[in-house]
Amino acid sequence: MQNNFVLIVEDEREIAELVELHLKRAGIHSTIARSGRAALDLIKKSVPDAVVLDLMLPDVDGLEVCRRIRQTHDQRVLPIIMVTAKGDESDIVAGIELGADDYITKPFSPRVLVARVQNALRRTGQAVAIDSDRMSMFDGQLVIDAGRHIVLLDSKPVDLTLTEYGILQFLAKRPGFVRTRDQIIAAVHGRDIVLSSRTVDVHITALRRKLGAVGDLIETVRGVGYRLSESREALAE
Ligand code: CA
Repeated sequence: MQNNFVLIVEDEREIAELVELHLKRAGIHSTIARSGRAALDLIKKSVPDAVVLDLMLPDVDGLEVCRRIRQTHDQRVLPIIMVTAKGDESDIVAGIELGADDYITKPFSPRVLVARVQNALRRTGQAVAIDSDRMSMFDGQLVIDAGRHIVLLDSKPVDLTLTEYGILQFLAKRPGFVRTRDQIIAAVHGRDIVLSSRTVDVHITALRRKLGAVGDLIETVRGVGYRLSESREALAE
């Protein structure tokens, strides 16, 4: 992982330097941008492998930085981990809908942040493989075969409704990353399905039940949405 380079966007010097130090210890190089504008200028010159983005910034705020990054860089190429104030669920939802991949709330443990960055870097590589195979495996038991539109649990087909399948496949495209209810609705929309936030929850409950032992890989992220972890070890993070 030593050739990775992470952009830390944070105006509070102490926090930025603490993050930089912990990433360095994990063998990850980073650069600090002290404002939204500085971050956008830096990304224009050299695209990092991941961005740790504080939302409260002078000049261009974090949500706007996120939106502008996504205008030119796809999620898979450039993961964004937002740093938000605790309890700012509306900002988290807005950020994820603008294309951020993950978030961490202040005050955070540097160790946890480093783990999130490492996951983002690792998963970015994997996501490409998942898409090209069109088949993904979770926890060694659950197989989603997007090419054939089937889901297998311990090699046996699982009987899912079109909506349940659509939700599962959407979450599986980016394992470990949070998706909001609105993103889920948008993803399954157009398959003659009408969904509301509340019905998303109902479908998720049904989906978990049908997936039995691996149902808990679909995590509820309170106030934000859902994420599918690739394994139980990943859940423990
Ligand atoms: Ca700040």
